[in-house]
Amino acid sequence: MLNDFPLTRSTAEKLDEQDELKKYRQEFYFPKNSIYFDGNSLGLLSKRSEEALLRMLESWKRFGIDGWTEGDEPWFYLSERLGEMTASLLGAEAEEVIATGSTTINLHQILTTFYKPNSYRNKIVIDGLNFPTDIYAVKSNLMARGLEPKDHLIRVESRDGHLLNEEDIMETFSDEVAMVVLSGVLYRSGQVLDMEYITKEAHKHGILVAFDLCHSIGSVEHELSNWGVDFAFWCTYKHLNGGPGSVGGLYVNKKHFGKSPGLAGWFGSKKEKQFDLEHKMTPAEHAGAYQTGTPQLLSAAPLLGSLSMFQEVGMKQIRKKSLLLTEFLLKLINQELKKYAFTNRTPTNPKNRGAHIFLEHEEAARICKALKKQHVIPDYRGPNGIRLAPVALYSTFTEVWEAVQVLKSIMEKETYKQFKNERNVIA
Ligand SMILES: *Cc1c(COP(=O)(O)O)cnc(C)c1O
Repeated sequence: MLNDFPLTRSTAEKLDEQDELKKYRQEFYFPKNSIYFDGNSLGLLSKRSEEALLRMLESWKRFGIDGWTEGDEPWFYLSERLGEMTASLLGAEAEEVIATGSTTINLHQILTTFYKPNSYRNKIVIDGLNFPTDIYAVKSNLMARGLEPKDHLIRVESRDGHLLNEEDIMETFSDEVAMVVLSGVLYRSGQVLDMEYITKEAHKHGILVAFDLCHSIGSVEHELSNWGVDFAFWCTYKHLNGGPGSVGGLYVNKKHFGKSPGLAGWFGSKKEKQFDLEHKMTPAEHAGAYQTGTPQLLSAAPLLGSLSMFQEVGMKQIRKKSLLLTEFLLKLINQELKKYAFTNRTPTNPKNRGAHIFLEHEEAARICKALKKQHVIPDYRGPNGIRLAPVALYSTFTEVWEAVQVLKSIMEKETYKQFKNERNVIA
């Protein structure tokens, strides 16, 4: 898209002027006036999220226990309400989405409820690049059933250690596989998997499909209903800017409604029945059935503010700007940093590129520390990865330009050598 432009600061400024989303930047708080390229680990606080959280506290202050049913956003219905607000980001129907739990717990819920191994169909396909918590959840779920991971897990390996090949995934599909659990966007390389293609192929073998959308929700477009995806789960503190530990999300395709929850709890009840307090559960007839206990309302409230922005703008616009930001970043890296031995591991093809860039360098750990010292916030992923995520709602093209200049000067002057090349506790 940027082929006709010289890669200069003035091009960056021009792109900022033309940016249709530029007014949203003023809605966010920037720590230490930094160039914040870590929104894929923890999105920034917006004024709308702050207000939504304060409103939640206010309703507690004013109503006490009656906050469950009174006020602008009665707590009793908030998880469903947030589900409805999230649905448009996913191409899902409102009743298929619920704000609940966490990524890890929601995966456990999906497995416990829908993975029903029998003597011939009992395997789960995962990939060798997935985030550890997903692997821990799948393995522990198997072990809790007395099943050995070595017999029941099929791991699709990456050919180059960074990308997955859809054909390699499909080679594992057979009538012995019950479920496949993959990420929509890989957390390291930022590769977007072809979720539609994988789902269609899996279904030909009767395999259920679950996607971890932690890095794809709020960053790329989804058509979960049209694609026929069975289940999805995600966190909301990354691209959705819900705040540290904000409540997660769960999608259950409506064709699976009615299945008894594996991890049942009283908040999965049909609303009108919940306070009958019967010992026989009457589950909700939608994705809400897969909630467990009382929702973490203070960790849900900020989403009211941040999701309202996503609804206003729409994923199409966000994706468009995001791709332009990462294209500009990749091209600048190419132009400015050629002689410094960085290797880009991000797909350059826009169709396969999520919303962050993953660079490798031997000195990555201390380069990241040097960047932070100069107020450019990346994140480090060991052993030698640097993730940079310019964010559509709040980053500018001029920041991309500046960040690359800072990186260039760190390499030129070798200022990274002041730091130790090892990771901190959180990296
Ligand atoms: C961030 C992330 C998680 C985090 O799981 P939590 O339960 O929210 O801690 C899981 N999977 C992937 C792919 C992630 O990127």
